[in-house]
Amino acid sequence: MHEDPLNIDFAYDARRNQYYSTAILQRMLSLASDAQTTCLGVTHLDLFIPILTFLFGEAQLSGRCALVSIHRLREEFYGLPPNSNLLWERLVKESVHELGHVVGLRHC
Ligand SMILES: [Zn+2]
Repeated sequence: MHEDPLNIDFAYDARRNQYYSTAILQRMLSLASDAQTTCLGVTHLDLFIPILTFLFGEAQLSGRCALVSIHRLREEFYGLPPNSNLLWERLVKESVHELGHVVGLRHC
């Protein structure tokens, strides 16, 4: 059976109503066929890892893949009016942060 590579239903946790970020990263890595490729995944879905209530993003330290979610970067998440400029700014910052991990930088 061939699975849709962009379908991340497999990572859904019904108990938390969130998506397991590490499992998605592992799937992305399996799809990044050559070692020189760096992948940045962007989703609107809410991400988690078991030890945290949520994630803005996750990356493989000194790896090839990073994943970010705009779910909690949107002003609407906090009951505020939409602000596409602010969302874009936050998405760029979060993406650069996670890609920093991919090139070996530690979290700060
Ligand atoms: Zn970090």
